Amino acid sequence: MDIFLYIIIFIIGTLFGSFFTLAIYRIPLKQDITHKRSYCPNCNHQLSFLDMLPILSYIFLKGKCRYCGQKIRPRYLILEILSGIVFVLFAMSIKLNVFTTNISTLVYFVFGLIYIATLFIIAGIDKENHKIEKSVLLFGYIMQAIYIIYLYIVEKDPNVYRYVIYLIIVLALVLINTFYLRKKTKNSYVVDILLLCIMFLMFTYEAISILTIDFTLLTIAISLIAEKLLSVNKKEEKGEEKKPIPIGFYLCITNIICLIISNYYIFF
Ligand SMILES: [Zn+2]
Repeated sequence: MDIFLYIIIFIIGTLFGSFFTLAIYRIPLKQDITHKRSYCPNCNHQLSFLDMLPILSYIFLKGKCRYCGQKIRPRYLILEILSGIVFVLFAMSIKLNVFTTNISTLVYFVFGLIYIATLFIIAGIDKENHKIEKSVLLFGYIMQAIYIIYLYIVEKDPNVYRYVIYLIIVLALVLINTFYLRKKTKNSYVVDILLLCIMFLMFTYEAISILTIDFTLLTIAISLIAEKLLSVNKKEEKGEEKKPIPIGFYLCITNIICLIISNYYIFF
């Protein structure tokens, strides 16, 4: 019975995955993500239902656009499969089960998936554009607020005060950023990273957030060392412009991994 549940969750994950590619491409361009139909970015032809099936369409169309023959980047396929796997791992981490799972775990599961989806989109946009998209961050905070209200009213969670403290810090950061920092510098990347970290604190609690930051710093350090070592061997690439490190991307991916691993221990 559970195998069917997990297959459905995998399919939902791949559907989310194909939505992520669309969101990561359109949000920075300020395009509509809910009403406008998907189209091929090369020939602008609108995609039919059959062109938009996650994974299957890619295989049947042999990785090419049906209308103009332009190659579809394999990263779309990879992201679809990856988000399917992440959704299944998250469900397994909380031991989701048709018979024994209660309402409170189910609600946590749904908000967890929304949280993971938000991080996926923030990570993708940061990797492509080195920018933490404010509208996605805001969406994440609104979802957190709804979850907090649910916890307070339905589950009578006594720990709600910690969310209120974090919300006050968020408000203070946003105010400082709008009225003080924006006059001095146009770039608010550091403030946005802080806002992202507070979102980690709210949903995944303090210990996991600290682990996330530790592992992110470690990963960035290792990749910088590896890059240095590799560039010693290939000196001819010096002319290439150096890209800034997408800190938000590393943070989001590490946080998702830490959340899933720690759930395996909590829901034991
Ligand atoms: Zn096309």
